[in-house]
Amino acid sequence: MRSHLLNDTTAESYRRSVTEGVERVARKLATTRGPFTGVTPAELAPVIDAVDLDRPLGDASAALDELEDVYLRDAVYFHHPRYLGHLNCPVVIPAVLGEAVLSAVNSSLDTWDQSAGATLIERKLVDWTTARIGFGPDADGVFTSGGSQSNLQALLLAREEAGTADLSKLRIFSSECSHFSVQKSAGLLGLGQEAVLSIPVDENRRMQSVVLAAELEACRAEGLVPMAIVATAGTTDFGSIDPLPEIAALAEEYGAWMHVDAAYGCGLLTSLKRRHLLDGIERADSVTVDYHKSFFQPVSSSALLVRDGAALRHATYHADYLNPRRTVAEQIPNQVDKSLQTTRRFDALKLWMTLRVMGADGVGELFDEVCDLARAGHDLLAADPRYDVVVEPQLSTLVYRYVPEAAASPAEIDRANLHARKALFASGEAVVAGTKVDGRQYLKFTLLNPETTVADIAAVLDLIAGHAEQYLGENLVHA
Ligand SMILES: *Cc1c(COP(=O)(O)O)cnc(C)c1O
Repeated sequence: MRSHLLNDTTAESYRRSVTEGVERVARKLATTRGPFTGVTPAELAPVIDAVDLDRPLGDASAALDELEDVYLRDAVYFHHPRYLGHLNCPVVIPAVLGEAVLSAVNSSLDTWDQSAGATLIERKLVDWTTARIGFGPDADGVFTSGGSQSNLQALLLAREEAGTADLSKLRIFSSECSHFSVQKSAGLLGLGQEAVLSIPVDENRRMQSVVLAAELEACRAEGLVPMAIVATAGTTDFGSIDPLPEIAALAEEYGAWMHVDAAYGCGLLTSLKRRHLLDGIERADSVTVDYHKSFFQPVSSSALLVRDGAALRHATYHADYLNPRRTVAEQIPNQVDKSLQTTRRFDALKLWMTLRVMGADGVGELFDEVCDLARAGHDLLAADPRYDVVVEPQLSTLVYRYVPEAAASPAEIDRANLHARKALFASGEAVVAGTKVDGRQYLKFTLLNPETTVADIAAVLDLIAGHAEQYLGENLVHA
């Protein structure tokens, strides 16, 4: 069994094994015909059930053959131009290379004595990101597992900075389009989900700062504490960006922590055309970025950045076995002092390789391309009588619904759109997402693949209309 350990004597077997895996994936990428096969859980479950985990195959080639059946054949492929579903991106090759290196070396970013240079690389990338945000020299941050964790940590810092022992008095303000991790975090932090006040959005799905101001005033009048305002820079559903300068001014006036959730919009930090959309972000106390969304990085790669690094002390605990107090005096850089995690992946290496190979402009160019594509897609939808489109995209999301020519009830239209989404998924020809707008069923394209063309969007709209029409036609027959 020692032959399976990665070490000096097995370097050759490592090279062969990983190369074979890379070959298989490369072949797969070259030959996939659609983003999905349409397999159902019921079809796939028996294939996976049939694998006896107590009878190993003993050999990487055999395991890879099996993997074809249990995973590779039916995976959902984000690199395919007709994957238009959730906020998943195709990944850039330098980042995948970084991934291969980091898992083989297997550094753990909790302490210097488990990571050495990796810690300094992560710190340099944190500094790079805070500089792009426009934070000053006191800024700091840490890589996290994802935007949900970044948001949780931001709100933990905000709770501690609020300086109120009575948690029942704390309130968090975020728009009705903010990410659900805000509510989840409030629950985890002992505030209860009710501590989050949902601020309505305008017709462009941006937080109404006038309502925010009124709610803050009401909060103060009731003797409650406005702990944090969460501004979303790129809402999950619409890609809309809350008015950051107005929110920053209100946060200052009411002494609230300003958190900007830029999990999606962070790609703008590298944009050559659209960086101004984030103006005001530099006034935040903390910022969430998901490199695994708009920096084309493999999952996971995310960070929490703070304007004043001292705030990260709220996540610090000294353990004799890991990061004893003396290590602070000795100036040993232990990232665990800033993190909610202990053992932690060297995800920063993927971004490092990306910047060293492509540069930030390269990332920004790709993100600008998908934002441009969204504009073109919006024009297409706006001109198409079969569709009703909700907002002009600020980023790369389109929310729309099929509307039949013939009279149909709102409920029937809802069902037709839902059916179209499901039928499309089952066909494997394209993957789109769905959401509700003002209680009605809508469909959504999240465009993160620069290889997707306007022709792809047009073709998928035809497919959707076809499924929806067929559904309504059959319904009429049965009515
Ligand atoms: C995706 C997303 C999150 C959550 O990030 P994960 O990496 O999925 O945990 C938070 N906020 C917004 C606005 C998002 O789009």
